[in-house]
Amino acid sequence: MKTVQQVSLADMAKDGSKILNRGDSAQMNAGAAPTLDDLTRSLQFSPGDGRIWLNGQRMQLMHTSSLGNLRRELMDSLGMEKTRGLLTRVGYSAGMRDAQLLRERWPDAEPAALFAAGPRMHALEGAVKVEPLHFDFDVERGTYHGEFLWHNSSEDEGHIAHFGIGTEPACWMQTGYAIGYTSALVGRLIVYREVECQSMGHRQCRLLGKPADEWEDVEDDLSYLNAEAFVSTAAYGQRKSGTSKNTAVLFAAAADGGTDQDKQMVGVSSAFNAACHMLRRVAPTVATVLFTGESGVGKEMFASMLHQISPRKGQPFVAVNCAAIPETLIESELFGVERGAYTGASESRPGRFERAAGGTLFLDEVATLSMVAQGKLLRALQEGEIERVGGVRSIRVNVRVVAATNVNLREEIREGRFREDLFFRLNVFPIHLPPLRDRRDDIPLLMSYFLRHYGQKHQRRVTGFTARAVDALLGYAFPGNIRELQNLVERGTIFANEDGPIDLPHLFTSGEEAAQSYFSLSVTGQLRQRDAAPEQAAGQGRQLLDMVPGLLNPGGGDWSLDQLEQTLIAAAMEQAGGNLSAAARLLGLTRPTLAYRIRKSGQGGAD
Ligand SMILES: [Zn+2]
Repeated sequence: MKTVQQVSLADMAKDGSKILNRGDSAQMNAGAAPTLDDLTRSLQFSPGDGRIWLNGQRMQLMHTSSLGNLRRELMDSLGMEKTRGLLTRVGYSAGMRDAQLLRERWPDAEPAALFAAGPRMHALEGAVKVEPLHFDFDVERGTYHGEFLWHNSSEDEGHIAHFGIGTEPACWMQTGYAIGYTSALVGRLIVYREVECQSMGHRQCRLLGKPADEWEDVEDDLSYLNAEAFVSTAAYGQRKSGTSKNTAVLFAAAADGGTDQDKQMVGVSSAFNAACHMLRRVAPTVATVLFTGESGVGKEMFASMLHQISPRKGQPFVAVNCAAIPETLIESELFGVERGAYTGASESRPGRFERAAGGTLFLDEVATLSMVAQGKLLRALQEGEIERVGGVRSIRVNVRVVAATNVNLREEIREGRFREDLFFRLNVFPIHLPPLRDRRDDIPLLMSYFLRHYGQKHQRRVTGFTARAVDALLGYAFPGNIRELQNLVERGTIFANEDGPIDLPHLFTSGEEAAQSYFSLSVTGQLRQRDAAPEQAAGQGRQLLDMVPGLLNPGGGDWSLDQLEQTLIAAAMEQAGGNLSAAARLLGLTRPTLAYRIRKSGQGGAD
């Protein structure tokens, strides 16, 4: 069964540019790296220090029967739907990690081999024996279809032991793994559905996978990726109207928050889900909420969602960006003005507080308020009353105040720029929103979502992303967070050819920070952030070593072998964050050997 145009090896040889972007199971070559043998060798047991490593990522062996017990306890305390969601997300994150590790470890691997490595990893880790029936994909066209049989599912064993045979599939964690792994490779959300399962009495499990927007009723599958029902799953695709049980369209504030009517909360990562949990917890109360986080992480979207899921949702949501209003106007904007208060105040008018009556007032960049405005805000919070500029009477207001800041308010207090009493009034229920680099698992979802969104908005048919564009986006540090990703995809959608994919030059066009980061980092062949997570260190170490020959001058340079060794050791120690064991792994040495070499070279510091 081939549903996507097939590419023969001869075609691929003729058209080299396509090699990175598409492939199918017919091209699978058992000898192509990473082989099962390669993968097996990347698993290292280090019983001396109580660690197991898979490509530099720490692993742990667990009894499947203990996992089965955990599953039963989760089911007892959370119920089936929540347990299924939780395990799906755990699996998703594992699949995502494995895809990242393989990409970094074997950057030149053929795409079909990388796809095939997923099932092998899955088998190596003891989850299932995977029998690929077929798969084909074309990253540029945005197509993917796969069908797999799973034998000996350990998850089914655990499930059947406690719950027997039922009517629903039960390989939740493994399905999540497949979704995470494949989505991380193609840079868009690929959803798998278990259509047969041992836990339903079938001899083996059968998995079908395709892009989220090709499934009908995909919200049902996607709802398991989201911890909270208000997180949108409608963003991805077809939906029979009225059947969605889990969608929430978020309307941005009419006043200041822009007019983009289809902003959606999108995410699956644990950092994102943790913030969503807190949001749901505080929404039904009247507590003041303070959102913290870098620019571009979506603070206004969270604030708006807080309002949408609160009892005040039928009342106004008024957003004010305090930094966007001149200091001389901020008081009259917030609190209103009485006629004759100053020259030109020919009419009385209410401020944002009054306009938000009964609803929610969102104060973005609250740290930029003047000390006078801070004092008035404090009073409004304390007394529930405001006074218009030039006014003589107090006006009672019932407003829930939600604030946000991208600076450290405690620091501002120390510098004398922010009132401590106001801080304690605002900081009743702080919610920290993580930067995008701490929720990389969400990048493929966000890419899918923005691709679809901007394709519709600009009436452009863009098929997907090239493999190198996917690589770049998955590895980029995103100093501007989600807003930056959003801008990159919008720009890419406009630059890309009709019916073609978004390629790297379509994304990083303006030559500013983004392009510079890309090129400076591309020296090693991969995009990389400097503060790479420890699990990325192994791949980096290998790349570091790959660069060494290029450092040597043919005629004998300034480098001595000793200097080279010291430089390498210093670099490895830095990448490993000073951890001697991790640095030793980067260099392919044992820990004592590395310690010896450091002592010998007098670099010191290590034991
Ligand atoms: Zn199953």
